[in-house]
Amino acid sequence: MNSEYSIPFNKPFLTGSELDNIRKAIRSGKISGNGIFTRKCHDFFREKFMFPKVLLTTSCTHALEMAAMLIDCKPGDEVIIPSYTFVSTANSFIINGAKVVFADSGPLVPNLDVSTLEPLVTQNTRAIIPVHYGGIACDMDPIMELAGRYGLYVIEDAAQAIDSSYKGNYLGGIGHLGAFSFHETKNINAGEGGMLAVNEASFQERSEIIWEKGTNRSAFFRGEVDKYNWVDIGSSYLPSEITAAFLYGQLDHMGEIQEKRIRLWNLYNNNLRPLEDRGILTLPHIPPYATNNGHLYYMVLPDLNTRTGLIKHLKSKGILAVFHYLPLHRSPFFQSRHDGRDLPLSDRYGDCLLRLPMYFELEESQVAFICKEICDFFGI
Ligand SMILES: *Cc1c(COP(=O)(O)O)cnc(C)c1O
Repeated sequence: MNSEYSIPFNKPFLTGSELDNIRKAIRSGKISGNGIFTRKCHDFFREKFMFPKVLLTTSCTHALEMAAMLIDCKPGDEVIIPSYTFVSTANSFIINGAKVVFADSGPLVPNLDVSTLEPLVTQNTRAIIPVHYGGIACDMDPIMELAGRYGLYVIEDAAQAIDSSYKGNYLGGIGHLGAFSFHETKNINAGEGGMLAVNEASFQERSEIIWEKGTNRSAFFRGEVDKYNWVDIGSSYLPSEITAAFLYGQLDHMGEIQEKRIRLWNLYNNNLRPLEDRGILTLPHIPPYATNNGHLYYMVLPDLNTRTGLIKHLKSKGILAVFHYLPLHRSPFFQSRHDGRDLPLSDRYGDCLLRLPMYFELEESQVAFICKEICDFFGI
């Protein structure tokens, strides 16, 4: 942790039961993947979120790679993703040969702008990858409708969206596949970790095979086949029981974690409201169809200079506030591959969005202090 900052941007939350669980996993004598704790986590997520099938993975990146393999992504295929996202959303498809077509963000939310999608669909389009930025839902009904009309898959990047919903349906469970992250920067963490929700029934059997290195070992352990074999492509996507045991230690505390984060989020939102009322900046917009899981608190400033100045001001007070994505269509890797379309809203979020500290141990008095410093900066 950087000692320059008395209020860091993130602190991974520990519930206190992680070590006990890890001890149990070690004593059980089986610490490779798909053991007792993996199954406990699977049961928890299936029951709580009503996902038909889930598989813990080593990361959300790997869950997205599994998704690319499940839809048989190959050279010549195109996938539509927002430019304003993390690299893994794009890389998982690119390493499987696909061409990424970037969509712009919406005017009110960094999520992709659904009204811009249809013109991006070609004969080669295979999938749309909506990213629920900050755990706030994309408008899924028109996305599913468009996908249905063109025969496309929908793979939700729900990395930030655990326990959040769209019109009463949990995110990650609406598209054909949904990918979650348990990276230490996310609400529920295992250091590194992720999960694939397999909602489309025809993918369920094959998802286990891809997960287990292309073998039918999971079916073998259930006694469904008498020996296990190489049956398909795959890789090593399952986490060890140490990771699953750690993660399970978090799940009991999920209600408490979410409640605290949402409380801090609302406090930021109330204290910063006067700045939005005066037209100084824009606070997060939660559409009527979406819930808020308190994953992150952001504001959109009028321009890059203001953001740079505010970051500097907060730093001088020991507060670490950070910007987020540099739009992927402008990245060193992709800019020469991009088709040249302007994506002005992605650029705007790239230049103007600022995230404030958000973690379980953050205190309400610290949020009040951060908001006061922001108001001071603007002379309010
Ligand atoms: C965190 C994140 C990822 C990557 O998750 P890992 O578990 O670190 O692989 C992917 N997409 C989005 C939108 C994220 O926020």
